[in-house]
Amino acid sequence: AAKQQGRNRFNYFAPFMQEATRARMTLANEMRDALMHNQFRVLYQPVIELSTGNVVKAEALVRWQHPARGLLCPSEFIPVAEHTGAIVGIGDWVFRQAVQTVKRMQLLHDKNFQVSVNGSICQFRERGVNVAEWLDYLGEQRLAPKSIIVEVTESMLLDTDHAVVHKLQALHEAGIALSLDDFGTGYCSVAFLKRYALNFLKIDPSFLMENEAGPALCEAVIALAHKLGIRVIAEGVENQRQQVQLLAAGCDFGQGYVFSAPITSDELDEMLSAVDKSINIHRTAC
Ligand code: C2E
Ligand code: MG
Ligand code: MG
Ligand code: MG
Repeated sequence: AAKQQGRNRFNYFAPFMQEATRARMTLANEMRDALMHNQFRVLYQPVIELSTGNVVKAEALVRWQHPARGLLCPSEFIPVAEHTGAIVGIGDWVFRQAVQTVKRMQLLHDKNFQVSVNGSICQFRERGVNVAEWLDYLGEQRLAPKSIIVEVTESMLLDTDHAVVHKLQALHEAGIALSLDDFGTGYCSVAFLKRYALNFLKIDPSFLMENEAGPALCEAVIALAHKLGIRVIAEGVENQRQQVQLLAAGCDFGQGYVFSAPITSDELDEMLSAVDKSINIHRTAC
């Protein structure tokens, strides 16, 4: 009878479950060919050095130009990609795009330019990223590993999976920079900031909230990071008030709509060209 009841219950919910599951399965199937059909795009969001106003880095952010559904944001397909494991192939592709873009920006504009890529936890487990392959690609492209920053999450720092620990360590030992993304949204205790040699910490936009505690929290986090030798990037900077506050709080870098939305690599090139030109005009005028 229990079995019968269970089956009835299952049948009752089945149509609803199937709908969501089918939508995810369709997306997962379409994603299998998306790389082959060149449907992914990478946009780059400029990162500004707050003390100079210079664009010194950019964050690679993936998009999916879906043939029927238009341009999809990461939130619409990354969770499925993580679930199916497709994120490994997508992440490798984004990494190679980022390498090519940073190389181009270094040759044309700024030899110290850096580009960051976001990491998913599944990329660092067994059967995920092959770190040796990433390093080979950097060698082929003659790019210094420190030009690439891998953004990790708090949950990755906490993970004790052997592969995760080993791969993050290997990236660091190879000279690739590590950045802690979305700091303040997870459950990472401050002690874990020392677990890996982090180069950057990205303050989540929720820290920039217009409440009383906002600026004090920001200042404390920045001071703590600096004590540990970690430079700080504020994310989601949307207005000049925040920009001024962050500079006053000692924040090193800022990223957000007040500076620029994510743009194509060609637009990034143009943005850096405009800066080069204004410097040249300034030089010839002297
Ligand atoms: P994230 O790493 O925290 O990236 C920052 C997100 O904030 C981006 O959303 C960016 O477009 C958005 N943003 C930029 N400026 C502002 C601002 O002034 N205000 C606000 N409120 N938001 C701003 P996006 O591009 O939709 O990406 C969402 C998330 O998807 C990213 O969050 C990242 O975790 C993930 N993601 C993006 N690309 C990749 C990828 O190649 N691989 C993986 N694994 N994850 C990715
Ligand atoms: Mg990020
Ligand atoms: Mg991220
Ligand atoms: Mg973030």
